[in-house]
Amino acid sequence: MPEASLIYRGTNINMDWQSLIVVTSVLSFGILENLFPFFTFKQSFDKRVYTNLVLGLINVLANNFTIALLLNYIWQQTSWLGIFHFIDSPLLKIVLSFLLLDGYMYAWHRLMHTVSLGWRFHRVHHTEVLMNTSTAYRFHPIEAILANVPKLFLIWLFGINLQNLLLYEILLACELIFHHSNWAIPLRIDKYLSYLIVTPNYHRSHHSQSIKEATSNYASFFTIWDMIFNSYNYPRSPKAIKLGLPQEKKELNIINLLKLPF
Ligand SMILES: [Zn+2]
Ligand SMILES: [Zn+2]
Repeated sequence: MPEASLIYRGTNINMDWQSLIVVTSVLSFGILENLFPFFTFKQSFDKRVYTNLVLGLINVLANNFTIALLLNYIWQQTSWLGIFHFIDSPLLKIVLSFLLLDGYMYAWHRLMHTVSLGWRFHRVHHTEVLMNTSTAYRFHPIEAILANVPKLFLIWLFGINLQNLLLYEILLACELIFHHSNWAIPLRIDKYLSYLIVTPNYHRSHHSQSIKEATSNYASFFTIWDMIFNSYNYPRSPKAIKLGLPQEKKELNIINLLKLPF
């Protein structure tokens, strides 16, 4: 099972280059957000990150025992090699794999906001009031696992290979850490960058208590999906954004977050 074990290794404690890239971006954006914070939070650093990191650990373990095994099955079977099997250019396969996976992430995220059952789980992510790099890991485990099921179907249907999947997943992980960070990058840079990729201010707006702001900016990596599907909304005054959910006033611990959808 060489390919699945690679995925497994990528999310395990063994330090290979994939984990190294993700750990480096956690540290880099973590340092930057502490040196140049956008919002000033009174709570201590460990209070801000503890719950999210525990959730992240649960999600990584849960995915390793489910999704990695299914991926292994998809890449081992030979009865259907996927639509990309008929494309010769490796570069075209990389571009198409990236766009497919990113377009899917947009669709899934939008679905989580429009279907009430989805929102019950996705709310966990939006209860964050101290948004920081660790918020990239604040997802209910059921959402974290279910989000991969349609993705597995796409991987099977198109025949997305391990290398192209890993390329997307690693860049996405770095992008999620970047756009959840509390790093105050210059407003103009944030604004111009948001025409291409999701930036901290762009995503802060999605975490706003305002319904209009929270029901836009669903993109995860490229913002083109919001432009195409009419949900692009760059915040006019990012400093005025109130993060979190208006109905969730108190700080939620790990148990409360796990119980929140039920
Ligand atoms: Zn959301
Ligand atoms: Zn978010």
